[in-house]
Amino acid sequence: MKKTIVSKEYQNLQKDIIALQENWKKSINPDSINPELDKAAMSAGVPAAALTSINFEISLFLQWIEEINVLLSKNNPELEPKLAGVITLLNEETVIRWIDEAFSFNSVYFASFAQENGLDEWIPQFLAETALRPYLQLTAEKIQHEVTHAIPGAGCPVCGEPARLAVLEDEGKKVMTCPRCLARWHAKRIECAHCGNDDHNSIQFITIEGDSSNQIQVCEKCTGYIKVIDTRQYLSKPSASMLDLNSIHLDFVAQEQGYQAVGEIKQTY
Ligand SMILES: [Zn+2]
Ligand SMILES: [Zn+2]
Repeated sequence: MKKTIVSKEYQNLQKDIIALQENWKKSINPDSINPELDKAAMSAGVPAAALTSINFEISLFLQWIEEINVLLSKNNPELEPKLAGVITLLNEETVIRWIDEAFSFNSVYFASFAQENGLDEWIPQFLAETALRPYLQLTAEKIQHEVTHAIPGAGCPVCGEPARLAVLEDEGKKVMTCPRCLARWHAKRIECAHCGNDDHNSIQFITIEGDSSNQIQVCEKCTGYIKVIDTRQYLSKPSASMLDLNSIHLDFVAQEQGYQAVGEIKQTY
């Protein structure tokens, strides 16, 4: 089996984007992020970033959008004319809307924004999400010490991204990690992140031949899966976003076998 199905070009572009985001994060004033953590809301599964007041700097956001556009156009010159007009569509009100809708994964909003403005459908949400992440990552850094566990099915306790990646650390300890905001939280070795099922009979591990450090944990109860990466042998530990990118072949295998990134409890009538 081929280890990586996505093209090298795609991976390189993603790596460049992650590098940009790491840089952008440094230009955010940490004081612009003020968590107002509410334990009751968090234990009901409300992502902590939704309980955080973030003072977005509109000019920074616009500058980042420009930088993504330059990178995308350099990577694929055909995109240049498609991206050229985007920045002129963004006034303060639109930027705030983009941030809100990207945070809550509102792809319906972005699809209609694209349609109204004659853009390719993927462009608005991709740009908004890419420029939102440094804020989410800094938020996660600020509140990481408060984040101990997640509510099954609620996704990342910081940003709400569906849980999909765990790493095995020393002594095989399983740590869930979010490729979107890079938050980390503990989880039981045998436990479905989607439905909380911890019955070892209905949690299985799919392994891939010749790939001993990666596993797919699947749950027969909700048909959800997560990827489990054993990073103990790694000399340097890549970020969660890089691990997610480098293990995309596992997503293909899991989905081919009928498992889903977001589990669903089967209805029994
Ligand atoms: Zn997250
Ligand atoms: Zn499950």
